[in-house]
Amino acid sequence: MDYVKPDTFFVSNLTDALQQLKNIPSLTVLAGCTSCIKSLNGTKIRLPPAALFIRHIEELQTVDKKERFIGFGAAVSLNRILELGKKRIPDFLYDAVSSVASHNIRNLATIGGNICKADHKMSLYAPLLAMDARLEFKSITETVQIPMSKFSEVPQGFLLTKVLIPMQDWSVTAFNRLGPSYEINHLSVSFTFLADTTKGILGDMRAAFCGPVSIRSHELENSIIGSRLPLNERDIENLLSSASRLYDDELIRQNKDCAPLLKNQYMNLLQYSLKTLM
Ligand SMILES: Cc1cc2nc3c(=O)[nH]c(=O)nc-3n(C[C@H](O)[C@H](O)[C@H](O)COP(=O)(O)OP(=O)(O)OC[C@H]3O[C@@H](n4cnc5c(N)ncnc54)[C@H](O)[C@@H]3O)c2cc1C
Repeated sequence: MDYVKPDTFFVSNLTDALQQLKNIPSLTVLAGCTSCIKSLNGTKIRLPPAALFIRHIEELQTVDKKERFIGFGAAVSLNRILELGKKRIPDFLYDAVSSVASHNIRNLATIGGNICKADHKMSLYAPLLAMDARLEFKSITETVQIPMSKFSEVPQGFLLTKVLIPMQDWSVTAFNRLGPSYEINHLSVSFTFLADTTKGILGDMRAAFCGPVSIRSHELENSIIGSRLPLNERDIENLLSSASRLYDDELIRQNKDCAPLLKNQYMNLLQYSLKTLM
């Protein structure tokens, strides 16, 4: 196949980026480019026919930390998130970010690129989904906020500008990553489990499992929230049966054909997490 030199657009401010997106609808937005296809033994990357580079836009580099909220500009690098330290971001989010690739790649890789990768939910998806993060998208005329739970793809003509994360105190937090380390393939999944277990009652619970498919259900969570701890065997069995049906339904709804191993992993992680609640 003939190689066509790509059209590349570098912009230094958000307005110019949004104007370019409006003028050239076929543009692909790129940030760190770490998920681009590699060639020549990984020494070169293959760019799409028309690319808009947003990595250096100042408005997308912001970190806004409040007591109960943190907002990241979409082009904030993963290492900048880690620089905040475990005291300023939740430990499970810190663990998820440090599980991504190597230090050098995390210098380039952005939080926005991690969320917007279309074909696979990357390592930060499960923790952000569990935290009820909201995504801010902008076009030249409009700003919209989409909860992670409703996000499927970047709307045409928009780019992701901010990731808005509510902060909450949790008594139990866990981040697990399965599949190969420091790379992504069809068996890569991440799981996040959060629970509030104050006064022997399950006050709140979140469970997100993301990879080729993304699973989180408020209905499932609400069915067990309010239970006395530890959970009894029957309650756990009932929840696992619902989770099994939910998983199968989501595969159909999201039109995904995943390795059967992933369902076993989801069920095991959920069962283990529920059993450890005290
Ligand atoms: C060796 C290696 C190991 C890796 N290991 C991991 C891993 O363990 N876990 C993991 O999660 N990832 C891994 N990755 C993939 C990648 O590094 C990360 O997912 C990274 O966060 C992607 O960010 P980026 O800025 O490079 O995205 P890009 O490659 O620039 O873009 C990714 C996608 O997002 C879109 N996009 C980017 N920013 C925006 C925006 N603001 N608005 C709209 N669309 C946007 C792009 O169009 C593209 O489709 C690995 C990559 C390599 C090369």
